[in-house]
Amino acid sequence: MHLFDFLAGNLPAFVFCTLLLGLLIGSFLNVVVYRLPKMMQRDWRLQARDVLELPEEPAGETFNLILPHSSCPHCGHQIKPWENIPVVSYLFLRGKCSSCKAPISKRYPLVELACGLLSAYVAFHFGFGWPAAAMLLLTWGLLAMSLIDCDHQLLPDALVLPLLWLGLILNHYGLFTSLEDALWGAVAGYLSLWSVYWLFKLLTGKEGMGYGDFKLLAMLGAWGGWQILPLTILLSSLVGAVLGVIMLRLRDQETSTPIPFGPYLAIAGWIALLWGDQITGAYLQFARL
Ligand SMILES: [Zn+2]
Repeated sequence: MHLFDFLAGNLPAFVFCTLLLGLLIGSFLNVVVYRLPKMMQRDWRLQARDVLELPEEPAGETFNLILPHSSCPHCGHQIKPWENIPVVSYLFLRGKCSSCKAPISKRYPLVELACGLLSAYVAFHFGFGWPAAAMLLLTWGLLAMSLIDCDHQLLPDALVLPLLWLGLILNHYGLFTSLEDALWGAVAGYLSLWSVYWLFKLLTGKEGMGYGDFKLLAMLGAWGGWQILPLTILLSSLVGAVLGVIMLRLRDQETSTPIPFGPYLAIAGWIALLWGDQITGAYLQFARL
């Protein structure tokens, strides 16, 4: 426990260690974002075959978050440990596979860097303790689900639901809010978007969002209590408007590609959890003038 004692008394060291941890976790999140949807699709296919009473597929090779080991999608070269150091390896390899020189997506080092910086900020914001540890888990979860939602328009229950339960359990100990506020946060989070969804569907016959979004807002409510919900919804539309304009500028061709709502909710909820009180306070002060 000497290390923990040291980190508890030394904020810069805690922030630096969390930055390194965040970079490593970012590297793992790249794997989760790539493999979890594939694992889900494989599961759905097996279930569908079962329901349709089709003969079972021959068992393929093991495919989970650990196995098979990562390899280059172009030449199959197995990534060695030294080629797997977050950000550093990418720079050292100059963004190319060491074997076939095929370019490696910039997204991998960017996700690692983002995860490292967000983690370091959480450590700085909360200081050493349980709130920082919990918020780190939530940050990593939100980052993974946002990326998966961007890629596949899918918010995996396997990520959202455990974090929803975790939020309720943590607030049983009053970590971020009272259990009562967290419970009603989860209920109101789900129902608010659920009602918008049905209203929109009845009026236009279209689906504006998915059930994953209701669960995500329920999860955020379970962490921050019902009080953060109005700000989260407001901020998500703001974030959506800003990022939407940027993305339309960047790829003006594919304007019809659906932009998922999940990442906006995730970013807005994260901001509301960290600065909700300050933002609301500043607004009230501004409104009184
Ligand atoms: Zn290669």
